[in-house]
Amino acid sequence: TTQPTITFNDGNSIPQVGLGVWQTPENVAPMAVSTALKAGYRHIDTAAIYANEDGVGEGVRQSGVARKDIYLTTKLWNEAQGFDSTLKAFDESLKRLGTDYIDLYLIHWPSPHRNRYLDTWKAFVRLKEEGRARSIGVSNFAAAHLERIIGETGVTPVLNQIELHPTFQQKELRAVHDKLGIKTESWSPLGQGKLLGNAVIGKVAAKHGRTPAQIIIRWHIDNGLIVIPKSVTPSRIEENLNVFDFKLDSEDLAEMAKLDSASGRIGPDPLTAS
Ligand code: NAD
Repeated sequence: TTQPTITFNDGNSIPQVGLGVWQTPENVAPMAVSTALKAGYRHIDTAAIYANEDGVGEGVRQSGVARKDIYLTTKLWNEAQGFDSTLKAFDESLKRLGTDYIDLYLIHWPSPHRNRYLDTWKAFVRLKEEGRARSIGVSNFAAAHLERIIGETGVTPVLNQIELHPTFQQKELRAVHDKLGIKTESWSPLGQGKLLGNAVIGKVAAKHGRTPAQIIIRWHIDNGLIVIPKSVTPSRIEENLNVFDFKLDSEDLAEMAKLDSASGRIGPDPLTAS
């Protein structure tokens, strides 16, 4: 079974499932990343603030998988927002990762109180023009932030990476993305593991003979979302990619649609986060 990909508004495409490495310590990242790549993952999601880009780069090299066959995402931290500081931070991420390009570079948070995300986006456009960031996108942006950077630069982010899981489905923002031609990527797709004991998900899992994690990851895929579950446990890393030989049916999807909750947010609110 081949892995699905999602094609962006800039013509590039991304493997729909990737490995997340938030809270993966620098010294564990080589093992987690090389385990994932050997298991068939081709997409890794890190960030400067995760303080493990060196370890991710090491894992890429240890895996023996060619750099060109791997999709690497990293993110610009809030304190580095601004035009010149973004270009500098990008170079530092490249150096730590041990590569000369990034497949996808994201503004980690809009950090509206700084009011620098527009200048930051202009630097991202430069990096894209230079080809050093193959695609550029954002994370945790609200509709107004998206509209502002697109209006000012004419360049639409390829995706917005946002908190999204069955108990926080983000239907309004996803509709905005669809209208603007922006793909949606789900962070904390398993609700940081908190959703794995949910009774509805347990029922669907039993029906398909799958684990709750596999059901939730499949839910993201069947909703057209890009999904980056995190694990450092080899058996779980494998389990989380083993989702391409079954599908949820309309009954499962209808049951899971009902899990949505306006108060389901687990992480920070992007409008007030640092
Ligand atoms: P997640 O929803 O992926 O949950 C991860 C946790 O679920 C693990 O720590 C583990 O406890 C559990 N788990 C994973 N697979 C399992 C399995 N098969 N069986 C049992 N338990 C399992 O949480 P996350 O790490 O918050 O989110 C995933 C990724 O999203 C991050 O690693 C990061 O790359 C990204 N992220 C981005 C932002 C952002 O602001 N852009 C914020 C949070 C996370």
